[in-house]
Amino acid sequence: MKALFCYSQDEFKLEEIDRPGILEDEMLIEMLYTGLCGSDIVKIMDPEVKKPAVFGHEVAGRVIETGKNVKEFKKGDIVVTAHHIPCYKCHYCLHGSHSMCRHFKETNIYPGSFCQYIRLSGEHIKYTTFKVPQELNPVAALFIEPLACCIRAMDRIAFRKNDIFSVVGTGVIGMLFIQLIKSSGGIVAAIDLNDERLSLARTLGADYIINPSNEIVTGEIKKITAEGIDVAILTVTNKNTLGDALSYLRDGGTVSIFGASGKESRFEVDLENVYKRELTIMSSYSATPESLKRAFDIITGEKLKISPLLSEVLPLSDFKKGLDLMMRKKIYKAVFKL
Ligand SMILES: [Zn+2]
Ligand SMILES: [Zn+2]
Repeated sequence: MKALFCYSQDEFKLEEIDRPGILEDEMLIEMLYTGLCGSDIVKIMDPEVKKPAVFGHEVAGRVIETGKNVKEFKKGDIVVTAHHIPCYKCHYCLHGSHSMCRHFKETNIYPGSFCQYIRLSGEHIKYTTFKVPQELNPVAALFIEPLACCIRAMDRIAFRKNDIFSVVGTGVIGMLFIQLIKSSGGIVAAIDLNDERLSLARTLGADYIINPSNEIVTGEIKKITAEGIDVAILTVTNKNTLGDALSYLRDGGTVSIFGASGKESRFEVDLENVYKRELTIMSSYSATPESLKRAFDIITGEKLKISPLLSEVLPLSDFKKGLDLMMRKKIYKAVFKL
């Protein structure tokens, strides 16, 4: 079968490897569409991450073989799956930190989604795999895992109706957050350096849009709310976005960090400011089977607008082109097929 190996940040080769075999609790799917996630890009760009490797975890595919114990799915089903599964038994799981579970971090689909056939374990079948209904475009199903991550982040924030949020960064994740917040009765200010993306953010429900290259963010927020923002969600975290958030949050407000990497993630915090203003700095990492199920229901119920985030599906052999388009923000998400 074909698998896309990443050798370095800019070297990718479609190579022939053995098709994975399956045990009686497992099944094999044929990749139909796979999405490039921001976290894949971090792994591709990070010289510390071991290469060559087959990356990718957002996948919709067709079941082509099931082990004899697999009852949930049958040959021909179109499914969507996700890669990590908590053990539900360890200290982390029993205390609500499912995405910190060691088993969660170790579990993965094999060999990765950037290839022709993918083996799903019994646990994947039980917890993270869903049948894509006929009426749903399988490409839209690729947004279930990212949406589940956003749902988990929202669950971790104690927010109230009419809270004013800032969503910093209007890529796929930002656009999903904006729509989730609006459907939960919140008010949203979208912040991004890209006017085109801000205009889509407005269409998808953002009440206010702010471009820090034209406007001083804290000044614009003051015009929206005298007290400050209740909850800031940073889909882009660096010293500017976190620094701004800590100054435009209301006293008692929360900043939620959703994604951070490398040198950009170092920041000096004024603890006196955090203490006296009772600020909460928190984060949310990945998704759980529960948030995946809710995301699946939202996407299949077509409760969020996904189509403006879609672009032309590329062949996997054009991986570099898709990566480049996504990194230059020409498209929201690169989606590939074989
Ligand atoms: Zn992802
Ligand atoms: Zn666990």
